[in-house]
Amino acid sequence: MTNNHPFHDENGDSLHEECGVFGVIGADDAAAITALGLHALQHRGQEAVGICSYNGSEFTARRGLGHVAANFSTEEAIAELPGHMAAGHVRYSTTGGSGLRNVQPLYAELASGGFAVSHNGNISNAMTLRQELVQKGAIFQSTSDTEVIIHLVATSRYPTMLDRLIDALRLVEGAYALVVMTPRGMAACRDPLGIRPLVMGRMGDAVIFASETVALDVVGAEFEREVEPGELLEIDFDGTIRSHRPFGNPAPRPCIFEHVYFSRPDSYFAGQSVYEARKAIGAELAREKPVEADIVVPVPDSGVPAAIGYAQESGVPFELGIIRSHYVGRTFIQPSDSARNAGVKRKHNANRVLVEGKRVVLIDDSIVRGTTSLKIVQMMRDAGAKEVHFRVASPPTNHSCFYGVDTPERSKLLAARMDIDAMCEFIQADSLAFVSIDGLYRAVGRKGRDSGCPQYCDACFTGDYPTSLTDLQRKRHADDQLGLPMGKVA
Ligand code: SF4
Repeated sequence: MTNNHPFHDENGDSLHEECGVFGVIGADDAAAITALGLHALQHRGQEAVGICSYNGSEFTARRGLGHVAANFSTEEAIAELPGHMAAGHVRYSTTGGSGLRNVQPLYAELASGGFAVSHNGNISNAMTLRQELVQKGAIFQSTSDTEVIIHLVATSRYPTMLDRLIDALRLVEGAYALVVMTPRGMAACRDPLGIRPLVMGRMGDAVIFASETVALDVVGAEFEREVEPGELLEIDFDGTIRSHRPFGNPAPRPCIFEHVYFSRPDSYFAGQSVYEARKAIGAELAREKPVEADIVVPVPDSGVPAAIGYAQESGVPFELGIIRSHYVGRTFIQPSDSARNAGVKRKHNANRVLVEGKRVVLIDDSIVRGTTSLKIVQMMRDAGAKEVHFRVASPPTNHSCFYGVDTPERSKLLAARMDIDAMCEFIQADSLAFVSIDGLYRAVGRKGRDSGCPQYCDACFTGDYPTSLTDLQRKRHADDQLGLPMGKVA
């Protein structure tokens, strides 16, 4: 099961993780391992995929639009990528657009040799840095903000590649999990707050990095540990690993939405099973926002673990009241509104035998624009539900993410436009309730946010951005004009 949310994909009413990264050094079949690892990370990006390998003398890259299987499932494709070191990337494009030139790993020939980088996250001062670099004569090949890192490394005056990379990253703000390849080996790094995830594993003598532990499982590697927030690891071809902490030790703020939605439920994140965390969020939701009902129904697939938790805690039976077809493509030509609605039904259909005459609690992971929630509620009513109560396993998504997650502009987020009563009316439910931010923290085993020290980035719920957002001052100005201040920025 992935946490892909095809119900929402019909009209872009969802949050998307922008990317997944993978890297391996010291393996005979590095490219094949990378392809397999990326396949396990496919839910983090479906629009494009790339792998770059190094055979001891040269780098080779292959990139394509679409899924991993469509680009890297043949022996011929893998044979094009020789060497014992490889890095890969799956991409959901937003910043930079979806052209092939933006597909990672990005590669450049620097004065010091080849440099390939896979990046998950978003550099929140990329536009500013880019303008400065262009003014100094830099010529960009892509519109991806990741290329800024390459230019900063290229123009750094430090003598070693490690120091150049650190020098570059000191200028960068925002979120990043990076896997870098050079002729000297591999480097892996998380931003100082660890907003985006990155884990390390081992398979024999090979060292592996991946956005999620599920990729280690799938390739047969052992999870060793998370790359720590702000940590930069260097791995030589002889297997020597050196850990550096170039950014001091600020309190970590990993993305809490990894628990809620992004990571696959069979991954571990921040030391916890994602599946168990989602069940705990559902149980917390049941304690906080109970309702008299006959059945608990998840919005598949992402609402399933939270619905199980809600059902177990409340004692209301869990039922698969919505069935998802697994044979529907992601895109479909939709010539009219009625066809668009039919498209929703092609993917999901109410299980009438369970729903008819029942008081239904629907559980979803989040509400973004609200248009799909409205369709789901309507689907339940059309199937004869007596009452439809909507429960959401995250607080209202009230602010945009600037750290590598594709959220609509703030003015399009339902929770930024309406209070909860108005949202309930909009989606035409009998009741609507969200887990509280403190409940979410409790469910993932932390003190409530009101303890005064948030241990996660939760800015899309609270507006408390843990880094500066240099490029977005203009956007803040635009939001102010709409009466939608962006929130607190570090
Ligand atoms: Fe995650 Fe939300 Fe923070 Fe973005 S703003 S990193 S989605 S918690």
